[in-house]
Amino acid sequence: MTDPRQLRIAVVGAGIGGLSVAALFGGTGGHVDVFERWPRIKAVGTGIGLWPNAVRVLDRIGVGGPLRAVAVPQPGGALRSADGRDLLTLRTTAMERGGGTGVLLISRERILNALVDAARTAGANLYLDAAPDVGRLADTYDVVVGADGISSTVRTELFGARDPRRRSGFWAVRGTDERTLTPYGEFWGARQLFGVTPIENGATNWYAAMRTDRRPTVGDLRDWYAGWPDPVGALLKSATDEAVLRHEVQHLWPVPKSFVHGNAVLVGDAAHAMPPNLGQGGAQALLDAACLVDELVGRSVPDALAEYDRRRRRTTRRYVAGSIAMANVALAGGRAARVRDRVLHMLPAPRVA
Ligand SMILES: Cc1cc2nc3c(=O)[nH]c(=O)nc-3n(C[C@H](O)[C@H](O)[C@H](O)COP(=O)(O)OP(=O)(O)OC[C@H]3O[C@@H](n4cnc5c(N)ncnc54)[C@H](O)[C@@H]3O)c2cc1C
Repeated sequence: MTDPRQLRIAVVGAGIGGLSVAALFGGTGGHVDVFERWPRIKAVGTGIGLWPNAVRVLDRIGVGGPLRAVAVPQPGGALRSADGRDLLTLRTTAMERGGGTGVLLISRERILNALVDAARTAGANLYLDAAPDVGRLADTYDVVVGADGISSTVRTELFGARDPRRRSGFWAVRGTDERTLTPYGEFWGARQLFGVTPIENGATNWYAAMRTDRRPTVGDLRDWYAGWPDPVGALLKSATDEAVLRHEVQHLWPVPKSFVHGNAVLVGDAAHAMPPNLGQGGAQALLDAACLVDELVGRSVPDALAEYDRRRRRTTRRYVAGSIAMANVALAGGRAARVRDRVLHMLPAPRVA
């Protein structure tokens, strides 16, 4: 068993995954250097929903309390069709009665700022504007953590695998609106969906996903979502191309055969980027971080990395597969969409538990 205080680890990428590793490993007394290619931490994104298992990792890091204080619990909501019919009602009461937090909606910016503070407080060194030679890192550190997202340089350069990035077949557009606009929930149409959630300070978070071959503009969205139920029209009316985020969604498939190569290890999107349809990408990055640090504290480095790979690869692979399947259902078109809506309409209301 290795004393973590004797270990030096390099973390490439200061997103949710990398900063969580830094905060947790720094907390053990080990040496952590984090390298981020951008000159500042880019809090790209609007709100994300975190399930209770991920919030528990934030608690371990010491930022769960403050984040919970500003987060908004995901309200029970309906899944509706594009013409406003209820397809399914989501109840979160069971989880709340059980003393859980439910799913918390938090702005990505707040999560990243809290993690930066926690990592620094734990003694991690954060180097910005730094895209290091990862081969050299592998030679000079005990462990190199590839937390550098879907286009991971650590994966490409140290794992040498075939490029597993795949187009998910749709674009995602996200925005926020300072007004409180309801009802919350998700609307599913043919080959496109629209979601509305609350976010901090009474604001509204929205996202749209659609099968299209081109980078959509807000003008396109106004056309494509014309006639959809409230509050879709109001949200799109005040949106601008400058203020929204637009991504062609990609995922990794197959996920790498191993998350470990020598002393390099992948966490988060670098290991298992998935379409956002199960809302699990950030959560799984947090769980990777907790698992990796637990293993590094308890074992020799080779055993710790092997155990991390064993514990995390199969689980996260399932989330990738599940998210791809969910995206295909949610963005189905034609007859498949009509059958989907009929089936959903017949189901009893599920509980999030
Ligand atoms: C539309 C959408 C909605 C989502 N909604 C949710 C949700 O509700 N709930 C949820 O849990 N997840 C959600 N996710 C997924 C979640 O955002 C990601 O899974 C998560 O942010 C991944 O974190 P990460 O740290 O692994 O990678 P990233 O956030 O990609 O961070 C990687 C970091 O590495 C840096 N980097 C890259 N290359 C280098 C290099 N060579 N050297 C140094 N630095 C480098 C990058 O600049 C970046 O800062 C969503 C994703 C999308 C696209």
